[in-house]
Amino acid sequence: MPLAELPLRAAPRSKNLEHLPVVVIGAGPVGLAAAAHLLERGIDVLVFESGDRAGSAIRQWGHIRLFSPWEFVVDDAAARLLDPTGWDAPPARGLPTGLEFVDRYLAPLAATEPLAGRIRYRSIVTAVSRQGMDRTRSTGRASTPFIVRTDTDAGPQEQLARAVIDTSGTYSTPNSVIANGLAPQHADVLGDTICPALPDVQGHDRARFAGQHTLVVGAGHSAAHTLLALAALAREEPGTTISWAIRNSSPVRVFGSGDDELDARGALGTSTHDLVRSGEVSLIDACEIDDLVPHPAGRVEVRGRRGGKPTTITVDRVVNATGFRPDLDMLREIRLALDEVVEAPRALAPLIDPNLHSCGSVPPHGVVELSHPEPNFYVAGMKSYGRAPTFLLLTGYEQVRSIADELAGNFSAARRVELILPETGVCSTSTPAQSGTCC
Ligand SMILES: Cc1cc2nc3c(=O)[nH]c(=O)nc-3n(C[C@H](O)[C@H](O)[C@H](O)COP(=O)(O)OP(=O)(O)OC[C@H]3O[C@@H](n4cnc5c(N)ncnc54)[C@H](O)[C@@H]3O)c2cc1C
Repeated sequence: MPLAELPLRAAPRSKNLEHLPVVVIGAGPVGLAAAAHLLERGIDVLVFESGDRAGSAIRQWGHIRLFSPWEFVVDDAAARLLDPTGWDAPPARGLPTGLEFVDRYLAPLAATEPLAGRIRYRSIVTAVSRQGMDRTRSTGRASTPFIVRTDTDAGPQEQLARAVIDTSGTYSTPNSVIANGLAPQHADVLGDTICPALPDVQGHDRARFAGQHTLVVGAGHSAAHTLLALAALAREEPGTTISWAIRNSSPVRVFGSGDDELDARGALGTSTHDLVRSGEVSLIDACEIDDLVPHPAGRVEVRGRRGGKPTTITVDRVVNATGFRPDLDMLREIRLALDEVVEAPRALAPLIDPNLHSCGSVPPHGVVELSHPEPNFYVAGMKSYGRAPTFLLLTGYEQVRSIADELAGNFSAARRVELILPETGVCSTSTPAQSGTCC
């Protein structure tokens, strides 16, 4: 649906729910920004986080350096909470690692007085519904509180809420390396021959990769990071061999155009391109993987098709860098309107679906594009992109600023989206029906 046709109607507000907090799922950067924006507007908030501290998902890839500088990864409302604490703001142009981003920004933010008492750690949200109503009940739905069920050390608990913002990310639910999207048939016996995206190849996981033949699968920035780390390892450890399998005929989205407005993201693409040109990485393009089969001596046989013809490659390790998908199980009783391809909100999907739009230059958007048939329920942050890549924190911060204005009744502010995002410089599409650019 074109943006111009989207309903500009605000979600109904129910005065009898206003004593309840807004529940935010996940204390990642977007969840904490949501909480900061809500508090600024005088709305109480409760954040449930599955990990034992803020930024738990990012800590898992803490050794990776972000491609966005500090000036693009700190939310404005969060900075306004931090400033009075004497927070030592990092240099605008510096590029933090994931760990530095957590230690220098998310941890101090979560420790600010307004937020600290409102975050519940080790609280895994397992389900969201309406009090006494499954998804089939319509009468009085908007004026009925949400119920958020969590798994905690003290057992299952339930919390009522006036609204819910799900910012739980996608990091714990990776896509499959198999072309059909299912788990490998022998997943239970593959052991550590297959590993998730972004292993710490030069640090903690070095021994798993040194002197081994690794196949990296996927055509995104996670794949590029791993290829660069493996190439550095190969220069130190003889016998380290690197192959890279991608579905498309060209990794154009990784290589970039040379015109990326985020210098570090552009450099990541250029360096990866150099590895392929120099032969340090063997690119296996147009490759669809059908199964992974355990092979004697702890190796793994990767069976698939290349250009339609059967192909098999035997390697020591497979790194799954095929991206992530949203966990929708906990939202089973919520009325969602999701695009059937990318599992993002319907109005947002055409802007980010890589089949239609390859360049990653996404127009900023807010509450209008993020609304679902369920009043006052929103998915924001990385999870709002469903299976699409290219999410940027700036986008997420603008999403939750807009949602907070909506929940505060500032409807015109919620619909005024003014953010300008850095362009990738890549603007082409692999859709045969389209030629030229996608923007
Ligand atoms: C390697 C890498 C590099 C990136 N670099 C950049 C960059 O340079 N610039 C940029 O703008 N973006 C970057 N991104 C993209 C994106 O901004 C990050 O993934 C960011 O962490 C997304 O923030 P989020 O808050 O939406 O989700 P997350 O950071 O994933 O946070 C979600 C939180 O929810 C918690 N959670 C999950 N499930 C539950 C549950 N059921 N109950 C309770 N809590 C739950 C998690 O523990 C986590 O703390 C990068 C992503 C990756 C993977």
